[in-house]
Amino acid sequence: MTNADFDILIIGGGMVGASLGVALAPLPLRVGLIEAVEFESAAQPSYDDRSVALSYGSKRIFEGLGVWNRLEARGATAIQRIHISDCGHFGFARLDAREAAVAALGYVVENRALGHALKPALAETKNLTVICPASVEDVAFAESATTVTFRRGDKLETLSARLVVAADGGFSPVRNMAGIETRRTDYHQTALVTNVTPELPHRNVAYERFTASGPLAFLPMSENRCAVVWSLSPEKAEALLALDAAPFMAALQEQFGTRLGRLLKVGKRAAYPLALTRVSEHTRPRLVLIGNAAHTVHPVAGQGFNLGLRDVAVLAQVLNEAQRTGRDIGELAVLADYAAWRKRDNLAISTFTDGLVRTFSNDLTPVSFLRNLGLVTVDLFPPAKRALLRLSMGLAGRLPRLARGLPL
Ligand SMILES: Cc1cc2nc3c(=O)[nH]c(=O)nc-3n(C[C@H](O)[C@H](O)[C@H](O)COP(=O)(O)OP(=O)(O)OC[C@H]3O[C@@H](n4cnc5c(N)ncnc54)[C@H](O)[C@@H]3O)c2cc1C
Repeated sequence: MTNADFDILIIGGGMVGASLGVALAPLPLRVGLIEAVEFESAAQPSYDDRSVALSYGSKRIFEGLGVWNRLEARGATAIQRIHISDCGHFGFARLDAREAAVAALGYVVENRALGHALKPALAETKNLTVICPASVEDVAFAESATTVTFRRGDKLETLSARLVVAADGGFSPVRNMAGIETRRTDYHQTALVTNVTPELPHRNVAYERFTASGPLAFLPMSENRCAVVWSLSPEKAEALLALDAAPFMAALQEQFGTRLGRLLKVGKRAAYPLALTRVSEHTRPRLVLIGNAAHTVHPVAGQGFNLGLRDVAVLAQVLNEAQRTGRDIGELAVLADYAAWRKRDNLAISTFTDGLVRTFSNDLTPVSFLRNLGLVTVDLFPPAKRALLRLSMGLAGRLPRLARGLPL
C-alpha cells in the first residue's frame, strides 16, 4: 500500500468520468475527480446542446447508479421504434420495442440534462472529492502511484493516486502525456446538430436515414421535438450553418421528407468534426483510459457514449472485485482484466459504425444493391433482426453486472 492522496483520481468529469465517479460510490476507496470546466458553464464541452441516444442497457446502468429518476424528470424520451432507410432506394428496416418485449429500445436525453443529473449525484457521493474548475497539466508515473499536476486558478497543485483514470475526451491530454499511440482516422465529415419541431407527433420513432450527403438521424425528444444529427461534408455543413432558419429547414426537409409533416421550428445549430480514434493501449500500470479518451466512433448509430458507459460499468466491477480480494487496484494485471473485457465490445462497435458509414457512402450500384438487401434481410429475417436489436439496445456480448440490472 502507498500513502497516495487518493486511491483513484479521475481526470475529466464529462459524461463518462462523472458517471464513473458515481459508480464508484459503493467502494470503500478515496476517489478524486478533476474537471476543467464547470458543469453548468456554456463552455462545457460534454454537457452541451447535443442530445444523446441512450441504449436500454445504459438506462439499466443509470438505474443502478441511482441517476435514472433524475434523467426521467428532465425529459428522457422513450424510443419505441427505429426506422432505418436508404434515401432513394428500396431497402428499409424497422425495429420495435415490442419485438424485444421491452417498453423502449432506448431513450433520448439532452447532454445538459445529464450534467444536471450527474452533478448532484456526485455531490451525494461521500467518498468523492470534486476539484472543478481545474485543468490537468502534467502526469508522472511511478511504481506505487501516479502524480498529477493541475492548475486551479493561478496556482499549480499536485496530487497522487494509486490509479489515474483518463476520462478527458477524444483529444485526451493524459493519454498524450503518457505517450500512448493513437490512430485517428478523419471521416472528412462534420455532424451538424440541432433540434426541430415537426408538425406531426413523432410517436417515439427514431429515424436513421442514409442520404447521398451522409447519414441523417431524427431522434424523438420531449415537447415533440426531434434531435437532429446530420453528417455532411465540412463544406456543406458550413454552408448550412450559415443559412437562416427557414432555408435551413427547407434543406433539411428535402433530405428527411414529409413523414413528420412540415418542420415548424429549429433550435440552435452546432457542428462537430467526426473521426474514428483507436488507441494502442487502454491501460498502463496505474493508468486506465475510458470513454472518448479510449475510443471515438462515428455517431451514426448513437453508440459512443453507450460504449463509454459500459467502460464505466466494467471498470467499477473489476475494481470492486480487486479491492474485495485485496489486490492492488493500480497493478497492470488487474487493469489487464478490464482491457481484455472491453476489447471485444470496442472492436465490435467501431467496426459496426465504421462499416455503416463506408457502406452507405458508396455509390457503386452493386454496393447499394447489397446494402439494401441487407436492410430488407434485417427487416424480414428474425435472427438478423434479433442481432441488430441486441446491439442497438446495448445488450450484445459479455455484460457487466450494472448493465444486467444487478448491483456492483
Ligand atoms: C454529434 C454527436 C452526436 C453523438 N450522439 C451520441 C448518441 O446519440 N449516443 C451515444 O452513445 N453517443 C453519442 N455521441 C458520443 C458522445 O458524445 C461521446 O461518446 C461522449 O461525449 C464521451 O464522453 P467523455 O466523457 O468520454 O468525453 P467528453 O464528453 O469529451 O468529456 C471530457 C471531459 O474532460 C474534461 N477535460 C479535458 N481535458 C481536461 C484536463 N486537462 N483536465 C481536466 N479536465 C479535462 C473536459 O472539460 C470534459 O468535461 C455523439 C457524439 C457526437 C459528436
